[in-house]
Amino acid sequence: MKYFFIILWTLPQTFCGGVFYLYLWIINKKKPYLFTYHNRHFYFCETITTRINGITLGYFIFQRFASGDYITRHEIGHDRQQLWLGWLFLPVYLVVTGVQRLFGVSQENTLFEVMAKDYAIRMTN
Ligand SMILES: [Zn+2]
Repeated sequence: MKYFFIILWTLPQTFCGGVFYLYLWIINKKKPYLFTYHNRHFYFCETITTRINGITLGYFIFQRFASGDYITRHEIGHDRQQLWLGWLFLPVYLVVTGVQRLFGVSQENTLFEVMAKDYAIRMTN
């Protein structure tokens, strides 16, 4: 039941995540496999891209295999952001991150990434 509400509340991202899941499974021929961390479902996949260790798209959290516990916690941080913002997450994330990038902020220092980083660090304490 919990996942039903997550899927509804994050429907635009979850739709993108579903398309990405099918891409990985059917086109890329690497079916992501499920694991659970702190009561949250994740999908492990050997290859997402060479540059991205993890990506959270609504219900779907993808993580590159063996990219580590820290990335898992970081993605849970992004999961929390999506639970706050719901359908607004993608447009807000893209506008805020895009404006910051235009002003020369590196991707890892943009607001949503710093918040996810802080969340990952706090989760260990
Ligand atoms: Zn991130």
